[in-house]
Amino acid sequence: MQLLTLLGVAWGLGVAAILLLHRRALIALWREPVMRHPVLIVESDDWGVGPLEQAEALSAIVDCLARHHDRQGRSPVMTVALILALPEANSATRLRPLDSPEFAPILAALQAGIARGVLAPQLHGMTHFWPPALARAALAQPQVAAWLAAPSLTEQLPSPLQSRWTDASELPSLPLDDERVRAAVAEEVAAYTRLLGVPPQVVVPPTFVWTAAVESAWAAAGMRVLVTPGRRFTCRDGAGRPAGIDKTMRNGDRSHGGAVYLVRDDYFEPLLGHTPERALAALARKTELGRPCLLETHRNNFLAAAGGDLDQGLTALDDLYRLALAAYPDLRYLSCAELGLALNGNDPAWIERDRRRRFTIWLCRVAGLPRFGKAARLSGLLPLLNLFARPDRLHP
Ligand SMILES: [Zn+2]
Repeated sequence: MQLLTLLGVAWGLGVAAILLLHRRALIALWREPVMRHPVLIVESDDWGVGPLEQAEALSAIVDCLARHHDRQGRSPVMTVALILALPEANSATRLRPLDSPEFAPILAALQAGIARGVLAPQLHGMTHFWPPALARAALAQPQVAAWLAAPSLTEQLPSPLQSRWTDASELPSLPLDDERVRAAVAEEVAAYTRLLGVPPQVVVPPTFVWTAAVESAWAAAGMRVLVTPGRRFTCRDGAGRPAGIDKTMRNGDRSHGGAVYLVRDDYFEPLLGHTPERALAALARKTELGRPCLLETHRNNFLAAAGGDLDQGLTALDDLYRLALAAYPDLRYLSCAELGLALNGNDPAWIERDRRRRFTIWLCRVAGLPRFGKAARLSGLLPLLNLFARPDRLHP
């Protein structure tokens, strides 16, 4: 009897140590909102200025989206992160905005999709680069000078230069001056508002490199939602890779200025061989963990000028929505702006309030924590906690 008591005390102390060691992650996962329904949002970046075939591609995408409906009768929303200006030939700083006559068909197609409720515009950036950095790089790099002689697809610039919020004219990149950042953010928010008639609510930092200063400026300019990969890269390292992570975030966390973070870390790039089935597997994982599934994609999948294929892209998109709804009849479509507001307001229509359901999802989340999950399974803690979960949503 005494031995049993001793063993029990030892087990209790061991479990307490495991919980204490991982308390921060455990609490963060408990606080992270749990979605009541499966949520799927395809997030498409880099639209706006550039080749005119975007107009045809956007119209075809709009028709594709409008053919599908969730149980509420809502069509899927594809978010389009917009680039608002292209430089004039041989000048990185003189810009041609999206409302120049040459881009009129693209803007018209965008506005038609927005009016039908299936395209949700988001701010990507005034440009997909930091203009002074591009100007400096063009002096030293012939391929950048060649691009600048006839600017079109920013996808064709060297990857580090596609980061807008760091100076990657040399590597490792250098930080930008805070005052210039504030001015650039004010300028791009004003341009977006002029182009679309409403201020932007959601922003997607180009190449996911941005800083606390940029974030504060966006928040001050009224941005409500910030799309992230779950961590903030602040620069490019010596090899040109995104680096300098100074913050991590989960869905529903707030930025310094009060904007809501969303996490987008799944991908749907048909050009890279990503199939609808792969996207469906991502939706399954996210749903099991009570998280929305945000799939990152880019305009190049749909544009011949960028090596893409419109028909192939549309077929993949069509198959994705068809298969997703067949697998999840309770699937819901909405925009990132709406998702951000639901998370921010803890909206009971979208966010789970039932404590036992939340506890069950939390168990699935903590089971996936690499070291905690293993320790909790081996110690018997996880099997014990699973007794209190909802059996229909139990992690296998
Ligand atoms: Zn981009």
